[in-house]
Amino acid sequence: MHSLLVKNAYVIDPLNNIRGEIMDIAIKDGKIVESVKDSAEVIDAKGQLTLPGGVDSHSHICGTKVNFGRYMSPEDMRAGRGRAQPYMYPVSGYSVPTVYANTYRYSKMGYTTVLEGAMAPLEARHTHEEFSYNTLQDTLANTLFDGNWSVMEAVAEGDLKKVAAIVGWTLAAVKGFGVKITNPGGTEMWGWGKDIGCIHKKVDYFGVTPAEILDYLIRANEMLNLPHSAHLHTNNLGKPGNYKCTLETMQRAPDLNDKRQTLYMTHVQFHSYGGSKWADFCSKADDVSWMLNRKPNIAIDMGQVMFGKTTTMTADGPMEFNLYRLHHNKWSNHDVELETASGIIPVHYSRKNLVNSIMWAIGLELALMTKNPWQCMLATDNPNGAPFVKYPEVIALLMSQKYREEQLKTVNPDTEKRVFLPSLDRELDINEIAIMTRAAQAKALGIVDIGKGHLGVGADADVAVYPIKMDDIDPSKDYQKIIDGFSQTDYTIKRGRAVSKKGDCLVLGDNATIWVKPKISEKNDISKDPEFMKKFERYYTVSLDNYPVQEEYLHRNICIETETGI
Ligand SMILES: [Zn+2]
Repeated sequence: MHSLLVKNAYVIDPLNNIRGEIMDIAIKDGKIVESVKDSAEVIDAKGQLTLPGGVDSHSHICGTKVNFGRYMSPEDMRAGRGRAQPYMYPVSGYSVPTVYANTYRYSKMGYTTVLEGAMAPLEARHTHEEFSYNTLQDTLANTLFDGNWSVMEAVAEGDLKKVAAIVGWTLAAVKGFGVKITNPGGTEMWGWGKDIGCIHKKVDYFGVTPAEILDYLIRANEMLNLPHSAHLHTNNLGKPGNYKCTLETMQRAPDLNDKRQTLYMTHVQFHSYGGSKWADFCSKADDVSWMLNRKPNIAIDMGQVMFGKTTTMTADGPMEFNLYRLHHNKWSNHDVELETASGIIPVHYSRKNLVNSIMWAIGLELALMTKNPWQCMLATDNPNGAPFVKYPEVIALLMSQKYREEQLKTVNPDTEKRVFLPSLDRELDINEIAIMTRAAQAKALGIVDIGKGHLGVGADADVAVYPIKMDDIDPSKDYQKIIDGFSQTDYTIKRGRAVSKKGDCLVLGDNATIWVKPKISEKNDISKDPEFMKKFERYYTVSLDNYPVQEEYLHRNICIETETGI
């Protein structure tokens, strides 16, 4: 029985409509409660900014491709080294650091929940094994269905219920959380050295289009009553002129859920490109945000690019091959049997480079031109656009036009003609930042009901106290104080315990993995379907019995069971 009182906190809690009230937060046994006894441990927040723990709704932190990124770049592992401390293991790495480095750095920035953006079902065990060492944030895994043979066959048959049965069984089997669709159809085509390019072109041998795969997966997602919506990495990532594909995809998205979006589109910066080739490359953030402002059934994350070295990694194998042809540096490529693909390339985003400078501007434009902050999450698609340790700088750029102007002076001088950023004078306030870094993420992921993203009574006691006194600063001018303040909390509290203080971890930590188990009737259990079993045994290198991840892999876990009606 442990009680804690966070006294004198300047609280911003958007889900409970609290905007800068000085309050005490009472915590008992890991949950927020009305009050605690005088004997409770006390943390004095001294009137400093206090937010619900950060939630990252799209990041790459654990699993096979992250690990391969580590193998590929020993020079990255030499960066960011830190020695062991009483409650901290030694760490190394910058853009793809060790699991411990990720969890410590997220905790230092006040983050308490992180979603891994792409888990191949076949390789789920690796993700879960690394999750168990990511001890200071609760973890969730988006599960890849973009090139799933059984799904595509069921789509070709026009059998929505079967698509739902396959998705539901797979999620429960591999302890996944959300439905991730990366370059639908394109990852399967990559098995033949091709990409798909158009949402209406048919996938070879399956006769279905990316648009159909997406439509069926969105509807199956809703049929299964999953907490999160379908989570899409749109076709044609990183190609000049891809905004047309993005707009058409947005236009097609149905509105099927009144609690949250029906479609979550990730790293939209990489999908908002105008021009027809690199020579006339330009921003189309205006058209994409215009569409988003008309479509409340869609939420996005920015996929902000920040300058410096990083590593790109995605299930989008053909995209990484295109990037390899541009950079001619190291490249890793992987085909995941009947499911998906992946690729990894280290990159350096340079201020001198015109394309990189335009990319940097587009992410900011999307956040500044999206009217409703609940529709646009702050993320870099860690580490693709930049390592997540750059979030404080992204926050400062969104809060200060002056900071943006100063940065614009340092980028390629031709950038201004190709972007909208210099004309945008909007400066986000701290409430909007709190929405875009935790409240909107929790809502979009559908985990508010299990106590994430807010500080109301009954919520998980995940709290971040930042050394920022909002009444004493003007974020528009004092952007350096915003960067410093968001870089390191005074206290990060996870499930009612102070887990880090001024950058040092105080405990080894004990995270939970959140996964879903849709309740599906015996007659729709796809793993008992003779046709499915036969194909599985014939084409997979593992047997059906060995495919599911045993619950023992998740030493502590929260299972969300859903009613499905199938
Ligand atoms: Zn991603």
